[in-house]
Amino acid sequence: MIKTKELYYEDQYMKSFTATVLECTEKGADYIIVLDQTAFFPEQGGQSSDTGLIAGIPVSKVTISDGIIYHYCNDAVPEGFLVECTVDFDRRFSFMQCHSGEHMFSGTVHNLLGGENVGFHLSDNTATMDFNIKLTKEELRKVETIVNQKIWENAPIIYRYPTLEEAKELDFRCKIDLMEGIRIVVIPGVDACACCAPHVAHTGEIGLFKVTGTESKKDGIRVHFAAGQRALEYINSLCDCATDTASYLSVSSLNLLETVKGMKEDSQNLKFKLSGLSEALLIKDAEALFSSEPNICLFADDIDMNTARRIVNKLMPTREGYVGVFIPSSNRHNFIIGSNTKDCTKLCSLLSEKYDLKAGGSASMIQGSTAESKETILHFLP
Ligand SMILES: [Zn+2]
Repeated sequence: MIKTKELYYEDQYMKSFTATVLECTEKGADYIIVLDQTAFFPEQGGQSSDTGLIAGIPVSKVTISDGIIYHYCNDAVPEGFLVECTVDFDRRFSFMQCHSGEHMFSGTVHNLLGGENVGFHLSDNTATMDFNIKLTKEELRKVETIVNQKIWENAPIIYRYPTLEEAKELDFRCKIDLMEGIRIVVIPGVDACACCAPHVAHTGEIGLFKVTGTESKKDGIRVHFAAGQRALEYINSLCDCATDTASYLSVSSLNLLETVKGMKEDSQNLKFKLSGLSEALLIKDAEALFSSEPNICLFADDIDMNTARRIVNKLMPTREGYVGVFIPSSNRHNFIIGSNTKDCTKLCSLLSEKYDLKAGGSASMIQGSTAESKETILHFLP
């Protein structure tokens, strides 16, 4: 079969076109359609494919293999027919904004800091680029600022198609082996990079470029970003979140961080006070309830293991036997058992033989968890 004519290289803004159906093959739930020409850009180089309609039938995915472009549809189209096709251009334009923005950011990282882009992913929900160097918060902000300034200069994005011999003499970023027919996307004063994807005609169409997050990678960094329409949506969602939260807290959105820091501090102080009160109350109750018993076996809902350990430590000197505190936690009980006179490791061995229980520690104190019920736990301490 002949290679599909790639209309997106003739006009990257082509929204609709007519084409002849050369082949329509059923494969699982899909019908895979080959046209004589297409403006649907196939998935490649980390970018998801275009979507749209062929003869009114939705196109969910487009792939390319040996120059032939395959359109995945959910219904058949008769072979030999001339069909009307439409690219979902809002989505495509968003991809063009992001892809051109990515070139500008990667080119600036290359020029300014010597780092290379070693990975790129662009889909409906994700836009990321990977670099082989670490980038600090300040460096990211500096590159982002330069990229936005260059966007506003509204430079034309141009293309070069050098021969293999010419390409060897040119200076441009390239992730693949040099070959005949290479396409170099040039953003004057910013970047030159081998790339097959559609781009905006002028940098101004990107509008805005925003770094939205980072992930540390081994020997590098992954940068999440948004450009154009996506950058506006990202900023809108942040503004809405800040405004709604500030309104809920009755403060200015610019004072949110200080307000939340204060609330966290208050909450920690209250938690500390509450834990002290729970501890005192539990000790008082235990001393009253088990006044004539050799052991103490307490169940407490709202305390953490540190508080449990302090309670056990305080009650141990008052008992001949063991002090155990059990805290319910998702169908199990976490526990601490201590004793000033008995060997807790021996008790641990005995309990492990008899019950569903995991624990470890020293002669004076063990810590663990058990799947046994409260009724069974009441028989733990001999
Ligand atoms: Zn590219």
